[in-house]
Amino acid sequence: MSTRNRNAGGGGRGRRRGGRRDDSNREEGYVAVKTAVKRPEGPVSLGSVMSVGELADALQISAVEVIKELMGLGIMASINQQVDYDTARSVATALEIETIQIIPEVVQAASEEIESRRDEGSSDPEAVTRPPIVTIMGHVDHGKTKLLDAIRETRVAEGEAGGITQQIGAYQVEVQKRKITFLDTPGHEAFTAMRARGAQATDIAVLVVAADDGIMPQTREAAAHAKSAKVPIIVAINKIDAQGANVDRVKQQLTEVDLIPEDYGGDTPVVELSALERLGIDDLLEVILLVADIAELKANPNKPAVGVIIEAQMDRNRGVSATVLIQSGTLKVRDVAVAGATYGRIRAMYDDHGRRMRRAEPATPVEVFGLFELPQAGDIFQVVADEKIARDIAEQRARQQQAESLLPTRFKLDDIYTQMQEGGTKELPIVLKADTQGSLGAVQGSLAKLSEETDLAKITIVHTGTGAINESDVHLAVASRGIIIGFNVRPDPAAKRAADADNVDIRFYDVIYHLTEEVERAMKGLLDPVKREVTDGYAEVREIFRLPNRVVVAGLYVLDGKITRNSRARVLRNGAVVTDTTVATLKRFKDDAREVAAGYECGASFDGFNELEEGDQIEFYRIEEIAHT
Ligand code: GDP
Repeated sequence: MSTRNRNAGGGGRGRRRGGRRDDSNREEGYVAVKTAVKRPEGPVSLGSVMSVGELADALQISAVEVIKELMGLGIMASINQQVDYDTARSVATALEIETIQIIPEVVQAASEEIESRRDEGSSDPEAVTRPPIVTIMGHVDHGKTKLLDAIRETRVAEGEAGGITQQIGAYQVEVQKRKITFLDTPGHEAFTAMRARGAQATDIAVLVVAADDGIMPQTREAAAHAKSAKVPIIVAINKIDAQGANVDRVKQQLTEVDLIPEDYGGDTPVVELSALERLGIDDLLEVILLVADIAELKANPNKPAVGVIIEAQMDRNRGVSATVLIQSGTLKVRDVAVAGATYGRIRAMYDDHGRRMRRAEPATPVEVFGLFELPQAGDIFQVVADEKIARDIAEQRARQQQAESLLPTRFKLDDIYTQMQEGGTKELPIVLKADTQGSLGAVQGSLAKLSEETDLAKITIVHTGTGAINESDVHLAVASRGIIIGFNVRPDPAAKRAADADNVDIRFYDVIYHLTEEVERAMKGLLDPVKREVTDGYAEVREIFRLPNRVVVAGLYVLDGKITRNSRARVLRNGAVVTDTTVATLKRFKDDAREVAAGYECGASFDGFNELEEGDQIEFYRIEEIAHT
């Protein structure tokens, strides 16, 4: 063993950087720096988001090491890239460094506030009944836009003062002295895109089905989206005036998609109407109020506002205009608010009639001016105490967004088991698309059978359909934390882009057997202990010592990671595996060692293998068994 490492190992840790060294030997220099690495003692405090460079500093390792670990996690990052705490912790854990998360107080308070809003309905004694927020969904041309117009116009005609209605992305109508808020972007795409971003603005979905056309692919899609969001559905059978309208046929079809009408003994409210002829609109509004009553929608108006951005645009004269749907609390002019990664002081706000407002209560849509930059639809909007806090939170969010854009696939078939362990998931949500109705049925049948065969995890088919995988499928998979299976179908370009951007796992099959086999294997992973290989480190054979008993001991130099006494070892010569064995002895100088870190030398022998040669590389690894609980 060389003196250099004896020094390094003998108490020189952390102090050798400035020491004399022989610069003619580059490797020597490298080793000196390596051995100088001081692992932090005790847990390292990390923020909820940080750059790779900052993480390296905090862990007292080089950025290159961090980048390498990140690559191991499937994340390609540069030194300035932001990573979130969970990712940082994975890096630290791999290096056996403990971490604790430090969340700036303001940010912590802000997220607690949002959390408390989410369940205030039941727990907040000051919560009062609030208007329901409704989204209209359904197949193209079934009359969604017409219905939204009809609702708006009939209510405005009934004496709503203030004149012309503004298009701000949502509007409110008054029925029996109660208000109902409608989101003005019909369709489930916006709904699910928002949901995928963590914002659920809708309380009730109205599913429009044209009486002369019946249930169509997007009707089924919309129903799946609403169900997956656990939003109650009211079916509006539209166009009852049209030729060929057949209400009974639609009701019959509804039972086939598990939306059983009340008069068929189910619990789906169905309203028959004509948006064109303005028939049945009031019936629909009444049913909405009934469903809202059952849902007991409440919010506390006596606190700073929290809401969600519905839409936003740049107004040439007035700057950023954003429509906020207030979900809790009351928004007032001059309040300071954060919206996603931007913030500002509310200069002015207007209602859906273009009237100036000074306060906006829960479930009210308002157009606000004063944000510095354009927020995105689905961003959380939140009033905070002052501009400094607002700026801190906005900056933190901007960094968080950058960090999240790096994360690898959200949910992979391969990972179900691990996810179950970590999050208690007992479900595999699948969006299933196939080329024909026939194959769809067959695949669905086989998956249902598979799901029945295990009581540990349930396959939930969130949505099925024929034809190419579309963007809506991708959004649904993200929102339901599921995967997409394409049977003889591929994604269209928009879906491909969305899947890449959102890291959605899409699996393709053309043989049912392969599909079920692969899903089954993943499901078996749920049942059997899962084994996985973890590489601890690599070492290089620098010298060979032959002991009298013919045992060969290798003088090793640990190149990377660490090697441990209880490892398995793969001897690699020119990249090829020569043998796969276990470590017999591991020594530092004369003493047995439990583990040896990178940059150090040691001696090791291997069970049943004495043909080591200088220059061989050895991979030390262990098999981890994740026991089933
Ligand atoms: P969307 O794609 O679902 O928003 O559908 P639209 O609201 O644009 O309506 C599609 C077409 O159906 C338009 O030509 C409407 O005039 C027509 N339509 C909508 N509602 C009715 C209705 O109640 N009766 C009849 N006969 N036509 C309707």
